[in-house]
Amino acid sequence: MIDSPLSPASICAGLPTEFVGRRVFYFPSLPSTMDAAKRAAREGAPEGAIVLADEQTAGRGRLQRQWLTPPGSGIALSVILHPKLAYLRGLTMAASLATVRAIQETTGLEPGIKWPNDVLIHGKKVCGILIDSELRGEEVEVAIVGLGLNVNLTPSALGEIGGVATSLSAELGRNVSRLEVLRSLLTQIERYYVTLRSGESLHEEWRGLLDTLGKHVRVRVGDRVEEGTAFDVDAEGSLVVRRPDGAMVTIVVGDVSLRT
Ligand code: ATP
Repeated sequence: MIDSPLSPASICAGLPTEFVGRRVFYFPSLPSTMDAAKRAAREGAPEGAIVLADEQTAGRGRLQRQWLTPPGSGIALSVILHPKLAYLRGLTMAASLATVRAIQETTGLEPGIKWPNDVLIHGKKVCGILIDSELRGEEVEVAIVGLGLNVNLTPSALGEIGGVATSLSAELGRNVSRLEVLRSLLTQIERYYVTLRSGESLHEEWRGLLDTLGKHVRVRVGDRVEEGTAFDVDAEGSLVVRRPDGAMVTIVVGDVSLRT
């Protein structure tokens, strides 16, 4: 069953945020909310403006991977922000923490975070997060936080990918209101963003939700692969891997950025 479309009026009514979600660009179908958000930002959309689509036909993950959002199945969201360079990297932590808290608050489920940017329930991906930023010198012109959250999705609808995916409805055995989850998500995004902006670190809270620590990992870094035990994450969010010979290697989150 598919729940009703997310209208801008229903999202904004009584939303307890100051700027996130106060301006909504809603589309029944878009190739990618990230591209639409970039265009909106260039045309002067204010900080906190969001782009939402009921369906994405060319949704993107990191590293040119695909993110699938069939119609009515979830939340395909991009948020326009103007962070300082000093806390740009903290946005991954803010977005994943906000997602976990919104899922906990609206469903009682207990997700974890797979470094650096996936939210998992019982080991399967319920949400993918992507941050695109545009820099000019030392200034961040814009950062777009992209989130694809599976709400009322039947994982098998994703074909092969369905095996690694889950959704809130698949976990609960009932449908969930996308509107309720979205409003909680926007509230949490603003809360964590404001915390980050005030200079507070989200590191300890984020670290406490990571599923990855202690596990054996293989991480592709450019054209080499690092393999070992996920030992820790540093204050910047980089992953510290202990190689089989005991040497430690730090792996930085590879985010997509364009220098102009
Ligand atoms: P990985 O999942 O391999 O760690 P990643 O974190 O870099 O990679 P993302 O950019 O977060 O990946 O997401 C892209 C990947 O997510 C795709 O390659 C596909 O396997 C998977 N995927 C695509 N659509 C969905 C969806 N709706 N639900 C769950 N997983 C999806």
